[in-house]
Amino acid sequence: MMDWIRRYRLWIVAGLVASALGAAGLARLQLAQLRDAFETDARIAHRLLSQRLAQNDAVLATLALLQPQAQASAPEQRLVALYPQILGVQRRDRDAAWADARLAAAETLSRAVRRPALAGVDLAGARYQLVLAAEPASFALRMDLRATVPWNEWPMAPDTSPVRVALVHEGQRLVLQPGRIDGSGWRFDFRKPLASASQPFDMVAQQQVGWAGLPWGWMAAWSLVVAGVLALACVWLRQREERRRAEELLRLGQVARLNTLGELAAGMAHEFNQPLTALLASTQAAGRLLGEDPPDLPLARNAMAVAAQQARRAADVVGRLRRAVQRPDPAAQLQPVVLQDAVRNALYLLAPELQARQVTGQVDAPDAPVTVQAEPVALEQIIHNLLLNALQAMEQVPVGERSLRITLATDATHGTLTVADTGPGIASDALPRLFEPFFTTRADGLGLGLNLCETLAGRMGGQLTATHQAPRGAAFQLRLPLAATQATE
Ligand code: ADP
Repeated sequence: MMDWIRRYRLWIVAGLVASALGAAGLARLQLAQLRDAFETDARIAHRLLSQRLAQNDAVLATLALLQPQAQASAPEQRLVALYPQILGVQRRDRDAAWADARLAAAETLSRAVRRPALAGVDLAGARYQLVLAAEPASFALRMDLRATVPWNEWPMAPDTSPVRVALVHEGQRLVLQPGRIDGSGWRFDFRKPLASASQPFDMVAQQQVGWAGLPWGWMAAWSLVVAGVLALACVWLRQREERRRAEELLRLGQVARLNTLGELAAGMAHEFNQPLTALLASTQAAGRLLGEDPPDLPLARNAMAVAAQQARRAADVVGRLRRAVQRPDPAAQLQPVVLQDAVRNALYLLAPELQARQVTGQVDAPDAPVTVQAEPVALEQIIHNLLLNALQAMEQVPVGERSLRITLATDATHGTLTVADTGPGIASDALPRLFEPFFTTRADGLGLGLNLCETLAGRMGGQLTATHQAPRGAAFQLRLPLAATQATE
């Protein structure tokens, strides 16, 4: 895991940066959209409220112009029914006085500025009065600010909208719509005086967007997409790396094969050297013995026998060399071979190796010969290879735990030979690749042995399979068709 992180850390950092940048971009987009909607709503609310306040000015101006007669019927009082925001209408005829001194002050101001003036503003109670000085009578309206809000045209749902809307005037404040302002996050603000010179209230709108308001779903989706793309890139890179490694291994394997050819040649030279030297010495000794007077015939005969033995050893070496380099077509030379003999032969050839590693081979075989259809040299190569692999594998375990068991058996059509060892066994990921050319776990391995064995077994109409043995160890099984003689017995 750590290795993986180290190897792909640049990609991981790039992915994290891309995720963060994308998510931040999405959040900004969402905030910009929310701000747009907020400002649009605030502007609409501002326009609606401004229009309503302008209506009040128009009503007063009309009253001042028409100057309705002060009759008992008081026609101006009908305005209350017409305009919900007007709670009452008062008038001060010439020579009369306002009941409220604040109205008198407002009238003086109105006369000076030539437009309606405010009186008795109680913003918290949503009340104020608006006075217009005129001749012969001046008029005052008693207003209800809450009723001024045109809720039927209002752009927001007053109970559920997150936007707070308030009116502010000289330190007083009336909240028209509560909204939700709490916690941390982003704050949108809007503040603008309503478009009425006579009623200079500020409209204030505020909205708070908390963390929960961010588009988490989209942000997560974006991060997933980035992670997915990154994972694909990593897989692709990894595959490319593996392909490269495989090519490199193949190349190395070929180099190694050349090296082993060199070693083989050196080994052969060494092996030839010994018998040839001995041969030379023996024949020279025989010559000397025969030249003696009288010639020592028994000793000379002895020397010649040794010479012949050494010559046979050299011939054996040649035979081994030929078998190593030549790949005969086993199918062409199939013949009945007794597995017991082949095993005995292979164990005999490997006796020094077994001894060096303090391993004794155990053979479990039926009394009757198991005769299979095989090419003797190919069969010998396979068994030799399997035994050698087992010995090499068992080098990794203590001497006392080494055991090599060779089992022969037959079924109706086939004879089987199983080589089981108590080495480390085969890792599950190595098992399917065991027979691939150049697959090896040994530092000095070539990885061609099992591949060749499998090819040879296949050409003889048989199979070679490998299994891991619990608790440990490996077993290789060679299956070959029974020879006709045996099958019919
Ligand atoms: P090499 O011996 O050159 O490695 P082989 O084809 O003979 O090539 O074997 C391939 C691999 O199979 C070995 O490297 C080893 O990992 C595994 N193998 C073969 N025989 C055994 C065994 N008896 N026990 C465990 N592993 C084995």
